[in-house]
Amino acid sequence: MTKHFIVIGNPIAHSKSPEIHTQFAAQAGLEISYQRQYCPDDAASFTAVIEAFFQGGGVGANVTVPFKQVAYECCAARGGLSEHAKVAGAVNTLLLNNALLKNGTPIAEAIYGDNTDGQGLVNHMTSLDWPLKGARVAIIGAGGAARGVILPLIEAGISELTLANRTLNKATNLVNELSAASETIAKQQINICSTETLSGEFDIIINATSIGLSGDTLPLSDELHSHYAYDMMYGRELPFLQHFAKRGAQTSDGYGMLIGQAALSFKRWTGHAIDVVKVTDSL
Ligand code: NDP
Repeated sequence: MTKHFIVIGNPIAHSKSPEIHTQFAAQAGLEISYQRQYCPDDAASFTAVIEAFFQGGGVGANVTVPFKQVAYECCAARGGLSEHAKVAGAVNTLLLNNALLKNGTPIAEAIYGDNTDGQGLVNHMTSLDWPLKGARVAIIGAGGAARGVILPLIEAGISELTLANRTLNKATNLVNELSAASETIAKQQINICSTETLSGEFDIIINATSIGLSGDTLPLSDELHSHYAYDMMYGRELPFLQHFAKRGAQTSDGYGMLIGQAALSFKRWTGHAIDVVKVTDSL
């Protein structure tokens, strides 16, 4: 029987998720339908869309801009949240909480939220053989993307973390919030600085800003060095990666993270683990 999935966003036409999940399903030998679902940009419309989807027999949904926080609030008040979703304050994967359904909870009240973005990044770096265990890591950016990757990176065993941002107090607030939300994060010493004062030698540096969308470049110090550089953006020339490649670093854009988070959602929904390298090569 065909299993139904959607990705909800606004805009949504550009989303690559249907192609990615169709490849996953072919690899897993499953019959699925995965559609793009446009939704007006308000919480009531979002809630109506996901309730109708799950009540109609839908198995799983991905959530993208601008609904990740709305989805978090929705699930917090309904079927619950995974640890990663709680700490990220955002949900990118929806499914039904079967334990609640078994207890007679109505479908609309059993919608559960997970967040696979950060683990998708960690899995991609691991597949590239980047040495996360014991790594000195710097993240630039203190928005939703940075928030989602900090716990998975610490869980992967990094030894030091520095968070840099254009607006310093946003980085400070983020670290305070995350430390209050997670004991694992509270135990990790996190250094904070502004982007232009970030300097020293790191094993891995991650661009988690949205600067790539504007075409501007980050003000990077000459005293900043890293063996590996990752930009969460993809699909265009990335000056951040060019900067570090010129200095001898290995680099990667965020396309593998996109595939990685999708593979984790797919596993959550279907139980099938995907060989992401095969999929990345064929897309
Ligand atoms: P947010 O809007 O939440 O945060 C934006 C961040 O970028 C802030 O830290 C902001 O700094 C910084 N920033 C924006 N413009 C500039 C600039 N001109 N100079 C310096 N810093 C700047 O965005 P998200 O965190 O949601 O997304 C960040 C990026 O990550 C996006 O490019 C997104 O596409 C990508 N992403 C990729 C994923 C993947 O699967 N590959 C998954 C999720 C996100 P300030 O606080 O000072 O405003």
